[in-house]
Amino acid sequence: MNWFRKFMMGRYGGDQLGMFLIILSIVLSIVLMFVPVAFIGWLSWIPLVFAVYRMFSKNITRRQQENFAYLRKWGAIKTWFWKLKSGTLVDKTHKTFKCPKCGQKLRVPRGKGKISITCSKCGNKFVKKT
Ligand SMILES: [Zn+2]
Repeated sequence: MNWFRKFMMGRYGGDQLGMFLIILSIVLSIVLMFVPVAFIGWLSWIPLVFAVYRMFSKNITRRQQENFAYLRKWGAIKTWFWKLKSGTLVDKTHKTFKCPKCGQKLRVPRGKGKISITCSKCGNKFVKKT
């Protein structure tokens, strides 16, 4: 393995982006098996070729920049998913009630105790705990 170590000297090697590209290539090759277009399976080789190219690249600064940009994007995606899960889907400041008469959805602030809600559609009044 001495020649290999010599060969890899001064080369970039693997990182998170390289790992992602290899996984992407595997996923693509599986997904594209179900796409009935001739030679489309070759598309799955593109990320793999790029991953190998980066691994043996001697332009380490450029590869580190790529990896850094990838990690930043990945972080932004994760934050977006986290917000979707905790913020947008569950409203912590408001509660939604349905008008018992007409079924209109009414949004009221949380934590106000028992309040009388007036329906904005039919004017029906009902008391709910918030
Ligand atoms: Zn109503």
